[in-house]
Amino acid sequence: AVMDQIKDMEPVLNSFVTVEEEYAFTQAEAVQKRIDAGELTGPLAGVPVAIKDNICVKDMKTTCSSNILADFVPTYTATAVDNLIKAGAIIIGKTNMDEFAMGSTTETSAFGPTKNPWNIEHVPGGSSGGSCAAVSASESYYALGSDTGGSIRQPASYCGVTGLKPTYGTISRYGLIAYGSSLDQIGPVAKDVTDCAAILEVLASHDPKDSTSVEREDYSFLDALTGEVKGLKVGIPADYLSEGLNEEVKEAVLKAAKILEEKGAVVETFDLGKVKYAIPAYYIIASAEASSNLSRFDGVKYGFRAKEYSGLHGMYKKSRSQGFGAEVKRRIMLGSFVLSSGYYDAYYIKALKTKALIKKSFDDAFAKYDVILGPTAPTTAPKLNESLSDTLKMYLGDIYTIAVNLAGLPGLSIPFGTDQKGLPVGLQLIGDCFQEKNILRAGFALE
Ligand code: GLN
Repeated sequence: AVMDQIKDMEPVLNSFVTVEEEYAFTQAEAVQKRIDAGELTGPLAGVPVAIKDNICVKDMKTTCSSNILADFVPTYTATAVDNLIKAGAIIIGKTNMDEFAMGSTTETSAFGPTKNPWNIEHVPGGSSGGSCAAVSASESYYALGSDTGGSIRQPASYCGVTGLKPTYGTISRYGLIAYGSSLDQIGPVAKDVTDCAAILEVLASHDPKDSTSVEREDYSFLDALTGEVKGLKVGIPADYLSEGLNEEVKEAVLKAAKILEEKGAVVETFDLGKVKYAIPAYYIIASAEASSNLSRFDGVKYGFRAKEYSGLHGMYKKSRSQGFGAEVKRRIMLGSFVLSSGYYDAYYIKALKTKALIKKSFDDAFAKYDVILGPTAPTTAPKLNESLSDTLKMYLGDIYTIAVNLAGLPGLSIPFGTDQKGLPVGLQLIGDCFQEKNILRAGFALE
């Protein structure tokens, strides 16, 4: 069914960089045998999944939607994907994304933009735009995305699907091609909260191959979905409802607050303190880490090498100049600048201090509330080509999502109606570290 849907929709949507039809059918047959033999009984057995193209799958092209990795075939599989395979998942292909996950629209992909299935004149969001469009258009039942500053939650909100960014350290980053290592998390994109919780149960694991992986006390998430929110303390940051927020998105947040209240939750607005400084802090830290992480793509070890060059430095220079797109180059330059001696203290160290203050503001909030409710993005999906010409505006669109990554918190985006244009509106639920159950519980109650 998903292969038929892919054949119908891909010429229009471009959700996938690579579709692995033959591999998928071979895998499906093998899994079916194991299901028949009673060896595979979990909820993911035999269910197709699409994987964002920055997550390594052995022997499957993994490009990060970049020319520099256009022909890169990994020799190993990411732990998150391995966990899915063990549960009997069928990998159907790799999804389009912003190049190296840098962007908010999937338009920085070297392989052309993905279109929003709700209206193909609009972007699907990003960077996990391919994963979210694929799930929204039923080209896959669920998908993996990665979220460094909102890249699962924001495209989920634009495409009317459910996306979860877990607490940092919950899902192994081994095999996820790094963007901002201290912020990156893999997470599920699915049709509803129940699916997200079921997938998280399989993805979450302690992995010695990732030094930031956490051993959690409890790996069950589905049991939080009771429909019950009586007594749940919900805070809405006043800043999240002020200037810059589209009226229809604001109305959706207020409507959700009302529903939660009617179901017995206690809802109030509050001041989220230093979180308003999240955008500059994020773009300094993420770019700094990116400039270091992307130094490995030098024309020697992976993928693309320029055809003509003179000398070793000439080879580095030409391979990187030709291999990387404009947004990635901008981040590498910004990151190298803020890490350079003379500017390190003024920018990078200051951003780290800001990050600590943001974490503190969230700690104060979670002393009072179980869940923070707000919008996922200030607007619904913009039109194609609107954001690329105004980079700063694109960065500002991350206002509600990026603080969550700076503080390592879990965040869930759920679809909540549509605007007048018929485009989906997304709500965001943020929890304290390791409290995914609270946001899944609240999200489930709002479905
Ligand atoms: N839009 C943000 C950025 O470009 C977030 C991307 C992400 O989460 N990978 O950095």
